[in-house]
This record gives sequence, C-alpha cells and structure tokens, in this order.
Amino acid sequence: MELENIIGNDLNSPEIIVINPPSKMKAYPAGSSIRYKPYKFGEILKTSQSKFDKSGWVKSILEGVTVEGFDKLDMTYQDLLFIGLLRRMSTFNTDSFSLSYTCPECNAKVRVVKKLQDLEFYDIEAEALPIIVEYNESINLICMPLTVRRWIELNEIDKIDDRVAVFAMLVTNYPFEEAYKLVDDAKDPDLVDALSDVDILLGHGVNPVNCTCKECKKSSMVKFFSPEVLIDPFRESEGAPRSRIRFGLSPDS
Ligand SMILES: [Zn+2]
Repeated sequence: MELENIIGNDLNSPEIIVINPPSKMKAYPAGSSIRYKPYKFGEILKTSQSKFDKSGWVKSILEGVTVEGFDKLDMTYQDLLFIGLLRRMSTFNTDSFSLSYTCPECNAKVRVVKKLQDLEFYDIEAEALPIIVEYNESINLICMPLTVRRWIELNEIDKIDDRVAVFAMLVTNYPFEEAYKLVDDAKDPDLVDALSDVDILLGHGVNPVNCTCKECKKSSMVKFFSPEVLIDPFRESEGAPRSRIRFGLSPDS
C-alpha cells in the first residue's frame, strides 16, 4: 500500500486528507471527504490520560477530524481507530509505529516496529450499502457498518462485548431493543446464514500483522486495534541526537 494513498502527501500541512481509510469511503455518500489534524502536545497528554475512558478517547480523536458530506458520528468505527493512529503518527511526523504485545508462544513482552505501508486492510465486501436482509415476510432489516455513534451507544450501555448487541447496532431501521430481540430470536437456518453473511460483508479494518518474537523467534499474527496490543508512533530518529533538548544548565542555556 502506498503511503501517500493513506495519509496524504504532506504530513506537515495543517489538515491532512484521508484518501484511503479501511472503509475505502464506501460507507459514505459519494463526494464525501475526511480530514484530520495532527495532535498538539497537550492533546497527546490528555489522550494518554483518558486511555481507560473509552468514550473520552473516541471523542479526543474526533475533535481533530472534519468531514464533508456526512455527520462525523456516522464515520465507521474502524475508520475512526485508523484515523486516531494517523493523527498520532502525523504529530511525530513518522510513517512507523511500534506494536507491543505478549508472545502467545513464550509469553515474552515483544515490541516490533512496522511501517504504515506494511498494513493491509480487509474491505467491506458488500457491493453497495446498505445491506437489506429479509427477516420474514413482513420485516426487512436494513444494515450498515458499525458507526462511531452506535459504538458510543454500545459503550454507554456497557455492551461492547455482547456480539448480539453489536449486531443489533448494525440494524438502522429498528430501535436497538427491537433489533436486539429480532437478532437474538433468529432461528430459521437460512436467516441465520444470511445474518452471518451480513457480519462478514460489512466487516472491514486492518488485517492482523505478522510479527516475530525476539525471544523464541516464532511468528504470530498480532491483532490490530485490540485492547491487548499497544500501538505507538515510532520515530526513526529515536536515539539520534535530540537537537531541541539539552541536559543540565550551561552558561549559554
Ligand atoms: Zn516468543
């Protein structure tokens, strides 16, 4: 994947256009656009403080994002996560990031450095959106990918880990409680198949990344944007002379 296709041409411009997010812009009306600003230092500090408050963290990403053609709360949740990473990376003017994870083979704490170009997305497979599922003779379910708005609602009712609830949030033409009951009650095998397909057809995001453990040399596929994996911007110049920083007081300081 070409870097300029993902983060735009100029990392230093005040606003950067997102050309190719995980959704490939398929979830938005034609002609829509998304831009973001790098974080300011104060925002970085606030973001790390709010890392255990998920909705605060989502809001802090959104604050630096402008969209045209749709409401930014209707951005897909996967796009938001990716743009959050881009915002942090552009602040440090880098195209590299580190992944910190626990090796499933030997339990060592591993940190590997990767480049944005190494990432591959899995795309929304649906040819057009929304997807309409014939639930029964009188009910159709109109489904769209999980948006930021619906993720916030899920988080507020503490149902992020409830798969039925996540699915019910994809249904746009019924209130959540009704959609939850419909999804939960589905038992006709064809319908169950159709609903499983919807999950796959709407899914998109960053593929797991192949990482090698420095201790046991075994590779594993590390899941992107999962709570167990820390992703941080990585600067090539880490360890290089830091011209803006001096240590101790000297006569010319
Ligand atoms: Zn290992």
